[in-house]
Amino acid sequence: MEIKRFYAKKSQKAGNIFTIDGEEARHMIKVLRYKVGYKIIVFDGTGYDYYCTLIEIGRDYVQAQIDEKVENDADLKVGIRLFQGIAKSDKMDVIVQKAVELVVSEITPVITARSEKEVKLEKLEKVAISAAKQCGASRLTKINEPIYLSEIPFDNLVIFAHENEKNRTLRDISTSKFSKIDLVVGAEGGFSEDEGRELVEKGAVAVSLGKRILRAETAAITLICLTLYKAGVI
Ligand code: SAM
Repeated sequence: MEIKRFYAKKSQKAGNIFTIDGEEARHMIKVLRYKVGYKIIVFDGTGYDYYCTLIEIGRDYVQAQIDEKVENDADLKVGIRLFQGIAKSDKMDVIVQKAVELVVSEITPVITARSEKEVKLEKLEKVAISAAKQCGASRLTKINEPIYLSEIPFDNLVIFAHENEKNRTLRDISTSKFSKIDLVVGAEGGFSEDEGRELVEKGAVAVSLGKRILRAETAAITLICLTLYKAGVI
């Protein structure tokens, strides 16, 4: 039987016992009908997998005893953060899901002149946990509160996918000396002229992703993959 992965907060661990409740417990009890003695893997987002045995099944909680703690090296040594112009809700779900699979460490929704102005953070956090479970990630991608474009920090290499950039591509950029890379992608409406200029003036490197205008979610996935390839990770 496949040993399934479940997420629990660090605070749900006391000694060598996890007490898991909520949706994760409901799934084990009601859907999978797990019994005492069953094996699960618990991850708490800190980079470790905990191989556990179920020792108690309550009405709406389970207790799992840790048998072994294993460092999960499925996560990258290169820290990639995505600053994403707020797209429509279903597109944001896709972007978060794919970014988690591609081991982006943080996602920050960005309010731009032409983006949506609100985002459903709780929903995106659930998407991130579900994607982490599915892909075997042990670190949780952090979903940050939305910021304005002008608040994007410039403490790392900042690469932004600009639909108006006609020449430079990622091939023209060296990423080797950066252990942290920040990526910026626009929403469906893209960036205004002023926003493009502001990002470049602050030191962001504009890159083209080709002649075609990609959907925001396609652009985000493409930019992340190309950056991972450039960084020698995939
Ligand atoms: N409003 C823009 C237009 O119609 O020209 C399209 C924006 S596009 C749907 C959303 C975002 O994806 C853009 O802001 C940019 O970040 C990225 N993107 C899409 N196609 C791109 C390309 N060929 N090169 C660079 N970035 C691209």
